[in-house]
Amino acid sequence: MRVKKGINPQIFFLLFLFFISQITFPQSNKYGLVIHGGAGTILKSSMTPEKEAEYISKLNEVLQTGYKILENGGSSLDAVVAVINIMEDSPLFNAGKGAVLTEKGVAELDAAIMDGKTLKAGAIAGIKHVKNPITLARLVMDKSPHVMMIGEGAEEFAKENNIEMVDNNYFITPNRWKQYQKMKEAQDKKVKEEKHGTVGCVALDKNGNLAAGTSTGGMMMKKFGRVGDSPIIGAGTFADNNTCAVSGTGYGEYFIRLNVARDISDLMAYKNLSLNDAANEVIMNKLPKLGGDGGIIAIDKNGNIAMPFNTEGMYRGYLMNGEQPVIKIYKE
Ligand code: ASP
Repeated sequence: MRVKKGINPQIFFLLFLFFISQITFPQSNKYGLVIHGGAGTILKSSMTPEKEAEYISKLNEVLQTGYKILENGGSSLDAVVAVINIMEDSPLFNAGKGAVLTEKGVAELDAAIMDGKTLKAGAIAGIKHVKNPITLARLVMDKSPHVMMIGEGAEEFAKENNIEMVDNNYFITPNRWKQYQKMKEAQDKKVKEEKHGTVGCVALDKNGNLAAGTSTGGMMMKKFGRVGDSPIIGAGTFADNNTCAVSGTGYGEYFIRLNVARDISDLMAYKNLSLNDAANEVIMNKLPKLGGDGGIIAIDKNGNIAMPFNTEGMYRGYLMNGEQPVIKIYKE
């Protein structure tokens, strides 16, 4: 009897169809976004129902805006910038308007964005007059040969590119000023009051591209010139199509020392951990072991999401295709 060599043509055809479908639709068909509005001492007991409703409504508006962009085929980068712009313009968060103040009572803003497809990134730090820091970070990525620009030089670059500039007072809301003065008085008595509210967004678009962005005023009472983790690529912001996109919030110095965002990605890349396991290992184990607190939001290339934090609360939410939006503030 002759043994037939080679693949049966029908099987060959089916295999051919399978491979073509993988080239045309390589990703799972998930798309969507995850947002955060800062982690910290956010307790239900110290929240009024009105304030809570205000946060939920803003987080929902933000999610819907980002989602619409993705649904219409827009890029994850565009969604991240649009989402963060809204949060920067809202006095509810510690980014743009409503940012916390330095020891000297000035707003100094940091932001970063990263493209998971190209690994391009843009970051700015120590900004005092740019209305939307994330927009400037994107410009650094798109229109300069650099990754990070700081202070006056970054602001000059902003002006050259006709970005909206504002007086530093624009960022200082009455609430932040009150908080600043209270803390200034308390400083001598060594009273520790935690205030967070950094904003971030990670997104996965219909083309399977990931992006991450973070924007912040940093830490209340920080020393002039202090730069946190948010604009440090790999610390507070990171995206790689092969693994995940991450945006962090919390005590920035610890995030920098641990390279939190990149560590999560690396645990996936080198140890084959799931997004959830990688994020938990870094946020619930490594970070508190070192004495740091905070949380992250992350999304992977398959649309899995993670939002671990080791503080009392974190403003957070996500909206994926085919699902209802989820918004949370406190620990479960
Ligand atoms: N991570 C920010 C920073 O250290 C602050 C925060 O997220 O609350 O600048």
